[in-house]
Amino acid sequence: MKKSLFVFVFAVMATLFSLAGDAKYIFYFIGDGMGANQVLAAEMYLAELEGRIGRNQLAMTSLPVSSQASTFSDSNGITDSSAAGTCLATGVKTTNHTLGLDPEGKPLTTIAEILKARGWGVGITTSVSIDHATPASFYAHVEKRNEYYKIGRQLAASDFDFFGGATFYQPHDPKDSATTSLYQLLRDNHYTVARGYQDYLGKRANAEKMVLIQKHEGLSDNYKGKGQIPYSLDKKAGDLTLPRITSAAIDFLSSHNDRFFLMVEGGAIDWACHSNDAATVIGEVLEFDEALRVALDFYYQHPDETLILVTADHETGGLGLGNSDYTLNLQILKNQQVSVAQLSDKLREQYENNGNKLKWKQVRQLLREDLNFFDEVEITAKEEKELRQALKLTNHNKGSVKTLYKQLSKLADTAVRILNRKSKLGWTTGAHSASAVPVFAIGVGAEEFTGWKDNSELMPILLKNAATDASK
Ligand SMILES: [Zn+2]
Repeated sequence: MKKSLFVFVFAVMATLFSLAGDAKYIFYFIGDGMGANQVLAAEMYLAELEGRIGRNQLAMTSLPVSSQASTFSDSNGITDSSAAGTCLATGVKTTNHTLGLDPEGKPLTTIAEILKARGWGVGITTSVSIDHATPASFYAHVEKRNEYYKIGRQLAASDFDFFGGATFYQPHDPKDSATTSLYQLLRDNHYTVARGYQDYLGKRANAEKMVLIQKHEGLSDNYKGKGQIPYSLDKKAGDLTLPRITSAAIDFLSSHNDRFFLMVEGGAIDWACHSNDAATVIGEVLEFDEALRVALDFYYQHPDETLILVTADHETGGLGLGNSDYTLNLQILKNQQVSVAQLSDKLREQYENNGNKLKWKQVRQLLREDLNFFDEVEITAKEEKELRQALKLTNHNKGSVKTLYKQLSKLADTAVRILNRKSKLGWTTGAHSASAVPVFAIGVGAEEFTGWKDNSELMPILLKNAATDASK
């Protein structure tokens, strides 16, 4: 009798063992706005810098499994980041601008919440604001993605172990300044707030839960109060980077938990795509790939227990590789020293310091410094006319171009569009597109991502491969 019971228990255990996953460490990399062409442009750009036609393979495209996913939302063929993030976090499509709720408004459960409830460590990180749509999709449930203070309160109540990113959009309730600040709520909920990587290193040992944001001091003026860490192109020594945030997250989670889930968002890829700024996009894709390398280092130490998925929430900009003839000239983008956002701020500053007027000589000098225009980058008479026209508009106070995340100077926008045209890239929109996004994977269960997917299929595969108590 005892023996048959033993056999029965063993059979049940064996079934559970085969049904449950083996992954004790799950990484979810999301390049916001990162379509296949954003990745390929970065690879072909690197090859062109070496004088070759072809690809310098990134870490993500070197992963053994690759496929694609469609991204439409429940309400539209083209998704926004909150509906897409919600789908990546929960496997359920919802209405654009909704976060963590289904189309009827009922709260959904995210993979991060499910694994947290099972005792896993959870980390949510990004290169933009931690309360922005994609990261918030993993811990917040609100009707509108721009309810940042409400999202921040849900972050503080999440009990997740690690948050990393630029900042919080609304540390105080914009409707009622008497309400408790997010920083107080975080302290009340036993979070340590570190400002910058050095501060993290000093505080990590005594922290129960951690929020890592960038420090205000030392940050370039045009990034103060903005919801992103500086673009790779604008970065100064000491600025926070996505690889640094990722290594801090892995360090913290692996020292506190024997299993963890970590989401890493390359959030600023999307912002640069909204500005149709190819050089900056490539810089952000490369920084995102560097962050992936940090996770891969961890993977190689735990290959039988780790699963890494890399994808995007949607494509942004409708980026095309080719705009006229059968040529590409991506290497010309190396002449761009700063993002269009920073160039725009510099032009605006000169404009204001100069009594709301800019001279062509000043503009020429700045474009020479920041874009190598008139030197390495030849400017035709027609292009000069375009730039002078933009200057005229600026001097008549009509010179601004509104993109989703930035009010750009017409001049900066025109100059960077000229450079993009010369690189032979094309942009179809300043918004999102319905293009399929890449899916790359390595590790336990990675082969299940093979074949063209829909974004709603990704989270269930990750969850299925997560180790349960019965399996490990
Ligand atoms: Zn976007």
